[in-house]
Amino acid sequence: LSGVEMKKFRRAFDVFRKTVILYDFEEIKTPIFEETALFERSLGGGTDVVSKQMYTFEDKSGRSLTLRPEGTAGLVRAAISGNLLRELPARFWYCGPMFRYEKPQKDRRRQFYQLGAEIFGEAGCAADAEVIEICNDFFNRLGIEYSLKINSIGCPECRGRYEDALKKYLADVLDELCGDCRERYIKNPLRVLDCKIDRGKDVIKKAPNFESFLCEKCGGDFEGVKNILKERGISFEIDSRLVRGLDYYTGCVFEFYTSAARDAIAAGGRYDGLVKFLGGADVAAAGVAIGLDRISSSIKIDESREGYLITGVGVSGGELERLARLIREAGFLCRVSSKQKLKKALAEASSGNFKYAVIVGEDELKNDSVSVKDLGSGEQKTFAKEEFIKKL
Ligand SMILES: [Zn+2]
Ligand SMILES: [Zn+2]
Repeated sequence: LSGVEMKKFRRAFDVFRKTVILYDFEEIKTPIFEETALFERSLGGGTDVVSKQMYTFEDKSGRSLTLRPEGTAGLVRAAISGNLLRELPARFWYCGPMFRYEKPQKDRRRQFYQLGAEIFGEAGCAADAEVIEICNDFFNRLGIEYSLKINSIGCPECRGRYEDALKKYLADVLDELCGDCRERYIKNPLRVLDCKIDRGKDVIKKAPNFESFLCEKCGGDFEGVKNILKERGISFEIDSRLVRGLDYYTGCVFEFYTSAARDAIAAGGRYDGLVKFLGGADVAAAGVAIGLDRISSSIKIDESREGYLITGVGVSGGELERLARLIREAGFLCRVSSKQKLKKALAEASSGNFKYAVIVGEDELKNDSVSVKDLGSGEQKTFAKEEFIKKL
């Protein structure tokens, strides 16, 4: 990341940080690699991420380690081993690189960055709606127009009932599915619904609808999320094929899209069983991860800067540096140009998006003054040096 891309990254980071702080989240940094078994167990062996996309290697003592393909599993592992869930609710946010072995393409790199927020210890529907609301605030502040899809994949009980019905349905249409799905359908039929090859096919569109299999509690929670979103003016669409690509989700799941990116720009949901599954207490949880690389092209940044470029042909460097120090002490960005021609220095100032050029020539030196050129309007004024410093 460099140049404009780095600036967009920084802007997204700053806006996200401000947003989650308003919701009382605490920042956390976790290791970028974990034991391979952590991801296999929590994300699920039948998922694309685990079976095809992990960077797995052995360390010097023969342990199998994996560069994290997502942030939640490692965060939960760290929260359990660091005893961070002793007081609930607990809320964490993070930013960091994730790694997936995929064909690199636009908006999709093997090392990519995610922003995330996780809430622990809040059962029911408020936390699900809150992480969605955080995304809504974040995208609004960045001026990104999105669409939101939600679904519920229920608790293990209603999921079991749905999987039985789905298996029965898929058994009759297997020859229309890809080779992988013919195996997936036995062990992990939900994964068929988000198969990259089969996703758009009619047989998938006609598969049984999850909502009608939800138990009373899961159905009620899903209604709750919908009601809160409506009340807050957040529009959404229900997509009954939305199951997310990872096994740890339960209950409400969601994905955000823009017209500029082909893949979801943010996704998440509830994952109530994961903390217990990984050896912690029975703690409810919900969270979201946002793909920084995928929103980058939708972020607008102001390239102009409140900065000064100082140029003085034939004036000692020390003199210019003293002036630069005064400008920096006043809190403004400042660079001394080493160009030996005024024209070249002005070109440097405009290509560097400086707001002003400060010109110190022979006359100015004699009168202890400076000439300041506004590079936007082209207007140039001469001030006594003291007056200029005071005005900063
Ligand atoms: Zn249920
Ligand atoms: Zn398939």
